[in-house]
Amino acid sequence: MINGERTIQRPMRWGMVGGGRTGQVGYKHRTGALRDGTYQLVAGAFDLDAERGRDFGTNLGVAEDRCYATYQDLIAGEKDREDGVDVVSVATPNFTHFEITKALLEAGIHVICEKPLFFTVEECEVVAKLAAEKNLIVGVTYGFTGHPLVHQMAAMVAKGMLGDIRIVDMQYTHGFNAGDDTDAGEAVKWRTNPATAGNTFVLGDIGTHLYYLSEVVLPHLKVEKLLCDRTAFIPSRAPLEDHATVLMHYDNGARGRLWVSSVDAGNMGSQKYRFVGSKASVTWSDSRPDQLIYQVQGEPEQIMHHGMPYLEDESLAADRMGALHTEGLGDSWSNIYLWIAQAIDAKMRGDEEFLKTHHYPGIEAGTEGVRWLENCVRSADAGAAWIDFE
Ligand code: NAD
Repeated sequence: MINGERTIQRPMRWGMVGGGRTGQVGYKHRTGALRDGTYQLVAGAFDLDAERGRDFGTNLGVAEDRCYATYQDLIAGEKDREDGVDVVSVATPNFTHFEITKALLEAGIHVICEKPLFFTVEECEVVAKLAAEKNLIVGVTYGFTGHPLVHQMAAMVAKGMLGDIRIVDMQYTHGFNAGDDTDAGEAVKWRTNPATAGNTFVLGDIGTHLYYLSEVVLPHLKVEKLLCDRTAFIPSRAPLEDHATVLMHYDNGARGRLWVSSVDAGNMGSQKYRFVGSKASVTWSDSRPDQLIYQVQGEPEQIMHHGMPYLEDESLAADRMGALHTEGLGDSWSNIYLWIAQAIDAKMRGDEEFLKTHHYPGIEAGTEGVRWLENCVRSADAGAAWIDFE
């Protein structure tokens, strides 16, 4: 169980690029990072509007001279300080991730970057090489995979409790973009423009969460082929999609089905996962993160609750609140930030043995998300054809 006790040598000196007052995701980063005293927010270039960013940063308690106008200023100001930042989170629109991450790594600073990590696998490989050369960690904020019951599903699959995996069924849909974009805010505008979002909208925006979570639960399965059918129900969003269905064939013969949509009118953004094996299945949704449905063929259905002693060690190790008390997205983000801090701490100590078995969403996870997106786009552009996964 996680109880706030420090598990690393010292708190990380932490900075942020983006995630300012008007940003959607910034507070999730701070919720995740600042929970246990694992990180101390000491610097930031929080906003494209430098004045608003400075005002926001000082209100968060950051010293005025460490609230920078741009990420370049942040790097210049922090690089040679004795108490300069150890790690910086990048919570800006997609098209900026690559350039900012690269610049931070070149300056010797660990990075925690938003998803989808970059536009291409090629960019991911450039950054992976740079991070390895510099001996630095790149973490990726797949913020839903810190939920303890996600790790319960993974442990149950690993123990063979479901049997051989046959069916993977996933959904992440909401209706917030069911109308047109006439009065759309900044966050919708950049998400629906290929120059700022990359070559996908909902596949990258929400589909990558589904894909990574399935990799956590089923690390032994690899996608061999996929078929992606995507469309823009609001024509101004084309060539990007606001709705997509992906079928997948895995290397063990399992079949996967996934749909993502931001035009699922009336749906309040739920994720649903169902993993079916030859003996049993598990079902989990982020809208009920404390409960896992376990169905064994021929037996009454069971509902498992987080924090209970009957759960697997991997799930209990990620639990914060304990049974009876509700757990939520903030706890999940805190776990992601903690696991990345432990990776950075191990890098700083030169503890490569620890890193071999330590699990956190890193550069490989970010790369696999981008690889999956590239394959989805290739299939969709070929007329929703089956393609070999490359
Ligand atoms: P947003 O448009 O709401 O906010 C972006 C923020 O970054 C703003 O504060 C803006 O002023 C600032 N910014 C933009 N460019 C900057 C720059 N060059 N330097 C400094 N600040 C800059 O966007 P958002 O919805 O918060 O999304 C940001 C990123 O987070 C995207 O990559 C998105 O995919 C991702 N995201 C992830 C999750 C998740 O669950 N992991 C959730 C939402 C968004």
